[in-house]
Amino acid sequence: MLHFPRLEMKKRVFSGARPTGRQHIGNYLGAIQNYVRLQDEYQCIYCIVDIHALTSLEGAKEVSQLQGNIREMMLDWLAAGLNPQESILFVQSHVPEVLELHTLLSMVTPISWLFRVPTFKEKVKMQPQNVNYGLLGYPVLMTADIVLYKAEVVPVGEDQLPHLELAREIVRRFNNLYGYTFPEPQAKLTHAPLILGLDGVQKMSKQLNNDIELAASPQETRERVMSAFTDPARKYRSDPGHPEVCNVYHMHQAFNSDKLEEISSQCRTAAIGCVDCKQLLAQEINSALEPFREKRSALSKKPEYVKEVIADGARRAQAIAKETIREAKEKMGLVLRA
Ligand code: SF4
Repeated sequence: MLHFPRLEMKKRVFSGARPTGRQHIGNYLGAIQNYVRLQDEYQCIYCIVDIHALTSLEGAKEVSQLQGNIREMMLDWLAAGLNPQESILFVQSHVPEVLELHTLLSMVTPISWLFRVPTFKEKVKMQPQNVNYGLLGYPVLMTADIVLYKAEVVPVGEDQLPHLELAREIVRRFNNLYGYTFPEPQAKLTHAPLILGLDGVQKMSKQLNNDIELAASPQETRERVMSAFTDPARKYRSDPGHPEVCNVYHMHQAFNSDKLEEISSQCRTAAIGCVDCKQLLAQEINSALEPFREKRSALSKKPEYVKEVIADGARRAQAIAKETIREAKEKMGLVLRA
């Protein structure tokens, strides 16, 4: 009887994330936790997309943090449970075939499709001093990221669905023009809780300095949690609170789900104060992250291991990429025939 290795029978998942350095609990609850779970069901390819990062960075000073950020991010991924024996973990620019495929796909992508992408318009507003071609071509490079590995499934939040739909349109156009080459990637919707930052207003973000890093010390975590904004209507300890509008409560949902009802009723009746409530949250976060922090600390003492994981990931990713590029070029008439 034929025996197929387990990995080959699984569908392939691709996901990329920008090199933002040390990850925060919003990254963990919104993406990394899901990445870890998907490893059981899929062959996962997870990529740190450093070339995408260049669309927003400009000049030697701004890129000087890039390599440190990649290393810190990979450390967090590994400590959180991404398994380099099962999954391919690598850095986008280490497999340069993605740039070649980006160019090939750009030939089948009408420019009008790119101008209508909402995030392009947002980026133009956000960085009017640096409206580079990379911003416009971002969806084409993203499509190349996915289809270079013939990934069939892409985990996305609802806000990323339009990007994936555009990737599917580009794939359909290529396949119609040159014959079936790439599978149309399917969205796997992830219903991650929206974790607001410590300001209770904006999404948790390192840039906004409203985050709690996974690798923060217990003391730092406590201090960060104690600085969080809560229900703005609760001015005094004796005021009843409204947990549904309080971000501390939302973080309890992620870290302290057993005690949610109790916290909610104690908040509404002012039986608990915000200081106590935050102390409880800090304790729960610290105890949940203890195994992660121990593993991260051990890994950080083995920089060669992290480098080897990244190099091995690139080797395995490139083996797939070379096959895809050969096939795409052949279909496009770029390979000399005998
Ligand atoms: S008691 Fe807790 S849930 Fe209620 S407002 Fe204060 S911090 Fe938020």
